Amino acid sequence: MQSSRIVHNRYFSRNPFFIVLYVTSRCNAYCKMCYNWKNIANAGNRIELSLNEIGKIASHIQSVQQLTISGGEPFLREDLAEICTLFCKKSNVQFITIPTNGLLTDCIERILKKALTDNPYVHFRIGLSMPEVDDELDELLGVKNAYKKHRETFEMFRALKKIYKNLNVDIGIVCNKYNIDRVRYIVDRVVSEKEECNPIVSMVRGKPRFKEAKDIPIDELDYIYTYCKERIPKINNRPFADFMNQMTDMVHNITIKTVKEKKMILPCKCGIKLIVIYDNGDVYPCELLDENLGNLRDHDYDIHKVLNLNTSRIITKKIRDSKCYCTWECALNNNIIFSYKYVFELFLRYISYKTGWFRLSPKTGQYDKL
Ligand code: SF4
Ligand code: SF4
Repeated sequence: MQSSRIVHNRYFSRNPFFIVLYVTSRCNAYCKMCYNWKNIANAGNRIELSLNEIGKIASHIQSVQQLTISGGEPFLREDLAEICTLFCKKSNVQFITIPTNGLLTDCIERILKKALTDNPYVHFRIGLSMPEVDDELDELLGVKNAYKKHRETFEMFRALKKIYKNLNVDIGIVCNKYNIDRVRYIVDRVVSEKEECNPIVSMVRGKPRFKEAKDIPIDELDYIYTYCKERIPKINNRPFADFMNQMTDMVHNITIKTVKEKKMILPCKCGIKLIVIYDNGDVYPCELLDENLGNLRDHDYDIHKVLNLNTSRIITKKIRDSKCYCTWECALNNNIIFSYKYVFELFLRYISYKTGWFRLSPKTGQYDKL
């Protein structure tokens, strides 16, 4: 059933496959590497989409594979569970991912329980952001006792996972200038202390609050990704986990190649198959380009009307024609799904992993170098 929905959403649907929905710009942290800091600083002046407005948006989207709910801190929205339910009921969403800084244990527990109970057939994945451990997390997030709160939140997730089979929790480690020397240590800590979670290592993106946060030596990043491949057990903790774990390795390879070669490795489908909706209704093709496609409030909350605007078509054509490139992991995951060449590689990797019939090149990780 799930597989057939993926096939439908991939091949037959005119809706976006992947939606990133910012539900708020409010945040209770002050991360040095935050890419959304300008909107957060201006949160008081932004008029968030109401639950009613989000319901109208969802009713124009018949089907969506992946909904990632972002912020700010998404759990600062008291109606977050209801937002999830609207998308589950009206847009037939299959997977919901919610990143969180993990600082609001009780609030997260209350909201998450409701979302999980009300939508038992939708898979929820929490991305607990943990770019550091111990006192260094407090320092990086700019919040006293952040690590202590994190641990409480994680124990709460651990308890919820025993009750709700539609929940999994992964640990997000964003590599940046301040933690780059410790990422391997953080990965080891996650593997040993949070054994049922995948550490998801990614690269700082956009224009971070502290500009220097982006200063990462590419060779070190390459080394870290290789380390992750060797050290992180491929945990089967969610539907299609084996596929997704292989896809993570592919994304790491593409990231390194993109940074080294400074060019597009596979075409970007942002603005067509992946879209970003901000908390004030603005629609963007991605989180990185400063190209506003339009505001849903001006277009009857209908995403198709925004995507069909002449200006939107010009922007998506520009993305395609300019061979736009970056290392945003969500876009890379989506682009792999929409590239026949890379989907083929994904299947080869999957078969290789499951059967051991043949081996991918340990050096390049590429199927064509066998
Ligand atoms: S990175 Fe996330 S948790 Fe940190 S300030 Fe930005 S939105 Fe808040
Ligand atoms: S390649 Fe990156 S910057 Fe360009 S459109 Fe895609 S996600 Fe945005």
